[in-house]
Amino acid sequence: MTSYDCFIDGQWIPAISGQRVDVLDPATGKTIATIARGGAGEIDAAVCAAQLAGPAWADCAPVMRARMLAAIAKRILAEKDHLARIESLDTGKPLKQAQADAVAASRFFEYYAGVADKVLGTSIPLGADYVDFTVREPLGVTAQIVPWNYPLQIASRGLAPALATGNTVVIKPAELACLSVLELVRICHEEGLPNGVLNVVPGYGHEAGAALASHPGVNLIVFTGSVATGAGVMRAAAEHIVPVLLELGGKSPNIVLGDAELADAAPTILRSAFPNSGQTCSAGSRVLVQRRVHRELADRLAEAARALTVGAGIQDPDIGPLVSAAQRRKVLDYIDIGRAEGAAVLSGGKALPGTDLENGNFVMPTILDNASASMRVHQEEIFGPVLTIVPFDDLEEAVALANGTDYGLVAGIWGRDVGATHWLAQRVKAGQVFINCYGAGGGVELPFGGYKRSGFGREKGLDALLSYTQVKNICVRVALPRA
Ligand code: NAD
Repeated sequence: MTSYDCFIDGQWIPAISGQRVDVLDPATGKTIATIARGGAGEIDAAVCAAQLAGPAWADCAPVMRARMLAAIAKRILAEKDHLARIESLDTGKPLKQAQADAVAASRFFEYYAGVADKVLGTSIPLGADYVDFTVREPLGVTAQIVPWNYPLQIASRGLAPALATGNTVVIKPAELACLSVLELVRICHEEGLPNGVLNVVPGYGHEAGAALASHPGVNLIVFTGSVATGAGVMRAAAEHIVPVLLELGGKSPNIVLGDAELADAAPTILRSAFPNSGQTCSAGSRVLVQRRVHRELADRLAEAARALTVGAGIQDPDIGPLVSAAQRRKVLDYIDIGRAEGAAVLSGGKALPGTDLENGNFVMPTILDNASASMRVHQEEIFGPVLTIVPFDDLEEAVALANGTDYGLVAGIWGRDVGATHWLAQRVKAGQVFINCYGAGGGVELPFGGYKRSGFGREKGLDALLSYTQVKNICVRVALPRA
């Protein structure tokens, strides 16, 4: 069994209290590691280290930061199998998905290595007597609060652009799954990232997380997690007038028009709904389908869902366990709510039969058909392998259904009529819209973030550079003073 401490100013140090938190394998319930239970004292030390390291990191030539990020990218790829194994054991996700996560993590560092020395300002014409230009400066200490569903990817998504633009970082990973983040920190250290530039304090959200969100030395808070916790983080940030970047939940629709190529759409829709057992903020967890192809699509989805294999992530099935017993309970409760609301269960609808459910958090991939706009299973983020299907008649109704939840993260649109798909794309309130695809290419290059209660601010792509820098305008009078 492995044990991990806090990483502060280049040193691994146990929690001041000496207390530790057990990390469980969600497939067996067995303890696989322990982490330090960091709290306010460790957060304070980490923020101080990040403040002290800030000026030198911000001042170093951007190309040096680019080279550091490129080295980290290469090293992540070299350790891909090791990282994926840890991620799979810790989160429960299938090994292949964990490997894809490690590749995506490497891509974040590769991508932002490429832009570290291209963070350009603008020059603004004011006439012959002035030279005016803008520079983009780092914010300083960035606090990054990371959830348990994609620890390695989400930590890399925030860390790489923060480092590229000259910020320093304190990460608070989730207590339920954070081992890959601690391994990533080791890699960064071994590749020569200067002490204090990256610090990590594992522990509980209400302890280490709350201390980080309210620390006066933090200059930007990047939070990925639930709406309720995000709102609390925003309130804490308001005390110190600190900007926040909130990546919250989703209830993303796949809108399938009557002329869509169903053989193409169905497998992608299924892959969009069930990766990581549906514990994905951008999961396509709602299908809105034009009534004339409703039956055919529902049958295709149900048949494919019944064929999915379920098991321990490390054995690389299609669907792994949910992250915790509490999460499994919540998902099973939602399935019961859906039944009671009148939805038809086409597949799954229960825990995995024949397994020791005291220990493994498995739920069968579930399709709830004939849902409607008012049902809770259609409105609320379930965060499990549950897909709802709602039929519609015309495009206006499709837009109303698509936009009829509190969320607005991603939307998929399927159809052959270019005019109809673009008409929908313009009206759907979501940060990302995919037409005849979903989540294309992992999306490191694509700006990602929410409308409405899915949050605000953008991660990924070049837009993230705006989130991690602030603009300074410098105006110079060049005319000679009159004698
Ligand atoms: P969560 O809000 O419970 O926890 C997220 C992080 O916040 C964890 O590190 C946790 O320890 C920490 N935290 C908890 N209480 C805190 C507090 N009082 N102060 C500061 N930090 C605190 O969310 P979760 O259950 O871990 O993750 C699931 C949610 O995250 C879902 O709603 C999902 O949609 C969302 N999510 C969003 C994205 C995105 O990019 N939009 C990505 C992944 C997950």
